[in-house]
Amino acid sequence: MTRQGLNEAARHFSRAKSAFDRSEWESANSQVRSALESLFNAVAKLRLNSNKTGGAARQELQDAGLLRTREAKLVQEFIAVAGGSGSHAGVSNADESLGRFLAGIGIAYIGLALIPELVRVEDVLVGQLTAPAGTRLPTDKEVYTTCPTCGIRQTLAQAKISRDGKNTVYTCMHGCQTIVVVGEPEDAPWEGRGYRLGDHVIRNAQDMYLPIIGTGKEVLIPASKGALMKQRPSSS
Ligand SMILES: [Zn+2]
Repeated sequence: MTRQGLNEAARHFSRAKSAFDRSEWESANSQVRSALESLFNAVAKLRLNSNKTGGAARQELQDAGLLRTREAKLVQEFIAVAGGSGSHAGVSNADESLGRFLAGIGIAYIGLALIPELVRVEDVLVGQLTAPAGTRLPTDKEVYTTCPTCGIRQTLAQAKISRDGKNTVYTCMHGCQTIVVVGEPEDAPWEGRGYRLGDHVIRNAQDMYLPIIGTGKEVLIPASKGALMKQRPSSS
């Protein structure tokens, strides 16, 4: 979940687990419910660019055909049940609460399955660059760059990968900062914003090297000045 940028949902699940460990059943149930609400809100945002939340977000996922009718019903009913008797003090007991916790994890997987895999640098290269016969393009295990903060050279496979909205973010293996972002092209490209390859833009904070395996040569993607800016610099 954290890898997919679902930090809020992950937090609620971890609180549900601690509440469960403390035998606070009502609280555990309500955290499971919050985790699922947050997860499906994130799925609607990501897949449909929707800002709707709660039942409306899930309805939209169903209308778009992402959740099949019965699946949508299952999710809806479960969330209602999870929030239901949990609020009557003393009603929830350990077994019931554990059952809901486990079922909640099952429902979470339905949501997670709707989230596309992260696009890695190696995925973007395929079909956009051609390696000479007998050689091949590098994978994330071979592409390398340097962290501007700690100065450690690392391959992209060593960096930590996660999602930020539609972007894939590589964070320094020591957690210092973002070192590479794979994103979608902006409507209007801006100076120093990155390297366009097909449907994606690669933005690297420091020079990045792509060894073409079997040739002894490397392709350099120079650092993009605006790599990590959140907003376009004003033109004035
Ligand atoms: Zn670092």
